[in-house]
Order: sequence, then structure tokens, then C-alpha cells
Amino acid sequence: MTVKIDWDKKEIILGVKDLTSQDYAHSGHYFEDNLPIRTYLGRSVHEESQKYRSETDPAYSREVIVKYETNLLNFHIIIQGRVDGVYEKDGSIVVEEIKSVFNIAGVKQGIENGVYEAFFEQAEYYIWLLKMQSDKRVTGYLLFVGIADGQTERIPVKFNEKALMRKFENRISSIIKESELKREWQKKQREFAEKLEFPFPTKREFQQEMMDEVEGALLRHQDIMISAPTGVGKTIAALFPALRYALYRGMRIFFVTSKTTQQRIVMDSLKLLLKRKSGATVINIRAKEKMCPNEDYFCHPDFCPFIREYPKRLRTSTAIEELMHKKIITPEDVYASGIFHRLCPFELSLDVSLKCDAIVCDYNYVFDPSVYLRRFFSEKYDDSILIIDEAHNLYQRGMAYYSPELNRAKVIELMQFASKHDAPVFTEFIEILEPLEDYFKKLEKFGIEERSNAKEYLVNLDTDFFDELEEKTEQLAVKYYVYKKEIAVPSKDDPFQQFIMDLGIFCYVLSLGGDEFAHIYCRKEDGNVLKILCCDPSRQLGERISGLYSTIAMSATLEPQQFYRDVLGFDRDRTTLRRFPSPFPKANRKIIINAKVSTKYTQRHKFYEKIANFITDITALREGNYLVFFSSYQFLENVYSHMPAHRLDIIVQHRSMCENERAIVITRLSEEKGILVFAVQGGIFSEGVDYPGDTAIGAIIIGPGLPQYSFEQEVMKNYYQERYGMGFEYAYLYPGMNRTIQAAGRVIRSETDKGIIVLADERFATRYYNSLFPPDWYERSPDELISKNCVEDISQFWAGVDAIKKLN
Ligand code: SF4
Repeated sequence: MTVKIDWDKKEIILGVKDLTSQDYAHSGHYFEDNLPIRTYLGRSVHEESQKYRSETDPAYSREVIVKYETNLLNFHIIIQGRVDGVYEKDGSIVVEEIKSVFNIAGVKQGIENGVYEAFFEQAEYYIWLLKMQSDKRVTGYLLFVGIADGQTERIPVKFNEKALMRKFENRISSIIKESELKREWQKKQREFAEKLEFPFPTKREFQQEMMDEVEGALLRHQDIMISAPTGVGKTIAALFPALRYALYRGMRIFFVTSKTTQQRIVMDSLKLLLKRKSGATVINIRAKEKMCPNEDYFCHPDFCPFIREYPKRLRTSTAIEELMHKKIITPEDVYASGIFHRLCPFELSLDVSLKCDAIVCDYNYVFDPSVYLRRFFSEKYDDSILIIDEAHNLYQRGMAYYSPELNRAKVIELMQFASKHDAPVFTEFIEILEPLEDYFKKLEKFGIEERSNAKEYLVNLDTDFFDELEEKTEQLAVKYYVYKKEIAVPSKDDPFQQFIMDLGIFCYVLSLGGDEFAHIYCRKEDGNVLKILCCDPSRQLGERISGLYSTIAMSATLEPQQFYRDVLGFDRDRTTLRRFPSPFPKANRKIIINAKVSTKYTQRHKFYEKIANFITDITALREGNYLVFFSSYQFLENVYSHMPAHRLDIIVQHRSMCENERAIVITRLSEEKGILVFAVQGGIFSEGVDYPGDTAIGAIIIGPGLPQYSFEQEVMKNYYQERYGMGFEYAYLYPGMNRTIQAAGRVIRSETDKGIIVLADERFATRYYNSLFPPDWYERSPDELISKNCVEDISQFWAGVDAIKKLN
């Protein structure tokens, strides 16, 4: 529990763990046996031991609550705790604290080195608390249980009341001092927050309104979702009021994004806002892989010098103070400090973040069940404000977090590998993999016999089977680490380790249960896959959001807002929905619908040539670069093959194109003219990328970017129909139109940008589709955008642009 101090009542409420001299997360034992599933195993060892003790000793009571009140240093102190086990023997009360360790063999050495000091101190406090409530003699011991070897060791606790009382007084005194310093610091922060100024001399159109909305939501202790196009200055409009509010009240801000590039923009905004003055400190947390200085990373003290004795070295180093002094802490700062002090840069960034007022990071660190920041989100976090940038992206991410897969080909590969190796651990792997492979076979047989040999079909997974598999795998995981330790071959791409983690995530999601999850078996050419499909991440995302003080979700395309509110898990009753129009002059853009082509799946083949000619005609009207966005790669390739031969300057996005290749393309666009980029909606050229000035003067959207028809989309459609009565809309239309509007938004990125946005497809002329256009695209009705002659309308637009240019 966290220490609570009430200065008015002069009262301190705290737990026994708050009294111990070391922070548990840093007490050394954690890093000495740092396994990915260590926490879980520790818990299960705990439960098993308690169960065994209860069954074998009728005098044994588990999870005994202790509470004691006393006065010290003018404060009334209330201490609470929960002892693992208590029993009576020979007239004495005995305290038994269970501690799981990796291997019993290392316990004695660990005790000599003071690694378990906090555990002994904790047990001493329990003895003392029980003594204060009883006339009987109280003793105690630590019961160490080895996860790897299954051995136990009882170590008696030496209880020295005098020494413990000295420690108690020192600890309470330091808690009071810390609190005084914090109060002093908060006073300064309040003054700083009051003086915090908007960092620009003027505000953009709608920026003040957006700030007022954000502040209003914070004051109401509610959430807000804001849809505002490029140009409003969303980042600073959310950050400024949120930071002021948070600093004033001693709260923390998390600003999460889906891309690293966005994080850099946020950090730049914070730099402007804070001007490196004292009063607030912010950090940008970067992913572990990117922060690791090792070529092959294997986060274990036996293999990595940066994590060996990390807690001790961190305590004796000046790394945290130096970083805190910087105020705006970048990943590069933390990396350099980590190298200098020989501390894992990623762990260092997490440790520094505890002292920061604002944390800028990826969505994953708040929402991903595998990597979320436990140090912030495992207990109460209602003193944190969350800002979600480009929040429409969280929907797909959320589904991905809760849609794990198991691949049959990988299981077979592991079995083959294991059968060629003699170590007993591989024999045990086979004992786990074989039943899983049999399970795959059973599901396939079911598909062939009961589902007409379908390639994809729904299955009902046997949760008992997976529970048992998970339990065995967890035990085996420890043995595997022991084996790895013995042979000392570190590797980050260890397929067995990957399997253990994949199975763990799979079983975790399976255990969640719920209508939003579908179990699917897919017989694919590249391997058969068993998948849990999360159709709707709202329950899981909503749990996190509801625990925060307030959440501000914003995006240029958060439409329809009700859809995003539902699928992102925002509470209808405590969420305000707001939208702002584009602040850029409407005269700078021409938005037009060509309804004379159809891109429907069943019709599009008739229009390949027509579309190719249309693209050629409108891009010939003015020299410049154009972005042409399709709904799929296949469609793109078909139209491309019909492009006239003279259009040689076409860059085609291919399926595996990465962000570096995109950067090369954008550099070309900034240096040349006359290039067409053929890309897909929802891809790296249509979202999270800017084409400033003349880099691109037109976006041509060929059909709405609806997700392709697939078995999974249909499963989702059925789910959404059941849940919201809007199957097609939630599964296809809304996410599809979001991609379209994102792609359309690439051209006009500043108030001086001029360009055309062309939407080619008959469906864009129907209300079902065009009612989803941003309202600032038209005056009264989206029908105004339907053109009878696109070429002529676009010519006129460019002529008008030239005429204004001449006048100026
Ligand atoms: S330095 Fe790299 S390998 Fe070592 S603990 Fe950190 S991330 Fe893991």
C-alpha cells in the first residue's frame, strides 16, 4: 500500500512493507532471478505452500491480518499488514513468511550478502505487531521455497525489539521528512503551474476552445474525446491545460502515442512549454529493444553486465540525480547515462520515470497486458491523467493485444528440435508439445468432418486442457532457464523461450473469457494457426481508462465519435465528445467526388482502365506530386498495370515497405516533381506522415478503405451486430472510412498548402458513406462535392489558385 499522511489529522497510515528498509522492487532478489514469469511463479509457489501448510497443520492460519496503532513524533500511526501464515506451537505464536527464490542453493549466500534483509525486517515487524496484541511469546521464520529445485529452507528470524524500534522511529521520521519535502515541492509546483504560460505569442483558430474543453473535462473529473483536424495545434492544446492542472495538484501525466515520431513532437512541445525551468520533469520512455546496448539481449544478470547487481549499483550511482537535473529527459540522455554508469538504460528510464511529472511513451506501456508499466498501474493510479494521441489507432492495437495465436508449424519445429537433443529438459518439452500437437490435429479433424473441410472455422477451446498445459509449461520454464544458465548460451531469439511466452499470453487471454472473444482455427498455406480473436477491446481498454483520473483522447479522425467511444471503452456517462473544424482556408483545397466509377469488389474489374485514365487526366492538369490511395494492394496492382506507358514516374508501395524506405520516398518527393505514389489506405504513406508544402499537391482516393472481406471480419460483424445492432458499420464502414479520411488529410498540412482531394467511387455519393465525411468538407451537404466533370472542376480550381498567386 502507499503511505498516506494526513497533515490536518496528524495521522500516518501505512503497510508493513512500507516500513522495511529497502524497496521491494529493488531488493536484489528480483534481478538475481529475473525471469519473465518469475512474478507469477512466485505467487503460485506461495499459494501452493500455504495450501500444503493448511492441509498438514490444523493450527495454521493463512493470510492473517494484523493492525496496530501507536503514537510517535506527534503523529498517530496506523500500521497494517498481512502475514502469510501464523500458528501456535508449545504455547508460542509462530510467524511464517514464505519467500520464493530461484534456487535454494543460493539462499545462504544471499543472506550473507544482505540480499534478503527486507524479508527479515518484514517478518520482525510481524512478530512485533503480534506481540503487541498478545501476551504470548512470538517467534518467526522465513520459509524459502526454491522454484527451480522445489527445495525448502527454514531460516529463523532473530527478533531484536530495541533495534527494530530504532529502525521504526528512523523510518517514520524519514517518511515525515519526505512528506514535508514533497509538500514544499508541491507548493513550488503550484506556483510554477500558476505561472505556466502558453508557449506561443498567438493561438491558432479553435485552439483556445479546445484548451477550454480539456480543462473543463479535467475540472469535472471526466474524460473527453476530441476530433480535430491538422492545424488546430492539438498537442499543445491538450498538454498545456493538462500539465497545468496536473502540476497544481501533484498529479502525473502519461502522453501516449502509436509512433516514435509523434513522441518526438510531444517532447519538443514540452521543451517549449517548460523551457527547462524547474517545476516539472518529463521523460520519454523508449522500447527495451531500442534502448539495449547489447547486440543480443538476454535480460539476465548471468548474461548482461548492465543488469548485474543493478539495484545496488543504481543506489550508489548518481545516474538518477543527473538525469533529473536535465528536466526534459530524452531516450538518448538515458542511454548515455546507462552506458556511463553501466546500468541497463531501459530499467534506468523506468526508475527515473517514477520521479517525473510527465511520461511520454508508446500505447503499450499503458495498455498492453504483457508490457504495461506495473510500477504505475498495478495499484491505484487515479492521480494520473492520460492523453492518447491519434486515438483512432488504439482500436486496432487494443484488438491485437488480446488476439494471440499459436502456430502449429512452430510447435512441430520445436518437437523436431527437442527430439534431437538429449538434455532432460527437451524430453519434458516434448511431453508438453505432443499433447498440443494432438490438440491441433483434433481441431483439424473437426474442421474436415464437421465444418465441410473449411479453411477457417470457429472452435470451442477446452480451457481445462490449456490450464494444465500452462501450469506444466511454467514449471518447465524454470528448468529451461536453469539449463540455459548451465550451458550459458544467451539468445534473444530463443524459440523455446518465445513459445513459453506465446503460450502464456494465449492462456491468459483465454482465461479472460467473454463474448468479445472468438476462437478460430485457420488452415493456411504457410502454417495452421489457432487464434483467439478479440472483436472488441473495449472491456480491457475501458478498465484501464476508468482507473485514471481523466483521459483525453484526440485524433484528426475520431469519427464517428460514438463508435470510437464504444470500442475504446470510454464510459458513455463520463465522456464528453467534441469536434473542431479545420482552421485552414477552405479556398486552398478542392474536395471532389467522382461517382462515375465503381470500386465495389464485384464491379471494379470493369473500371481499372477508366480509373487509370482518370488518374492520368487529373494529374496532368498541374505539375506536382500526387498520392493515390487504394483500398488494397491487389486493386492497386491492377490499376497500375493499366496506367499509360508514359507515366513512368510512379512509386508503388509494396507490402513489406518500412519507414526508412518511406523516408527515402519523401525525400524524393521534396526534391522532384511529377511523381505519383501508389499506396494503400491505412498504410505507411497514408497515416502518421506529413507531405508539407509542394511535396504532394493531391490525394486521390480510389474507393473507401474498407477492410477486406474475410472470415475474421465476418466474425466481428456478427459480434457487433449482436452487441450494438451495427454489424457492417462497426466491422467495415467506420474503420474503412477512417482510413479514407486519414489518407485525404495528407495534402493540406499548413495554412499555405494548396491541393486537391479526389474521392473516386459511386459509394462516396451516397449518404451512407458521405455522412461520415468531416462536416467542414462542405457547406450544407456532402452532395455538393459530387462533380459532373472532375477534370474541368479541378482545372478551374488550379486556375483560381494561379490567379490569386498573381494578384499577390
Ligand atoms: S541492457 Fe539489454 S540485455 Fe541487459 S537488461 Fe537491459 S535490455 Fe536486457
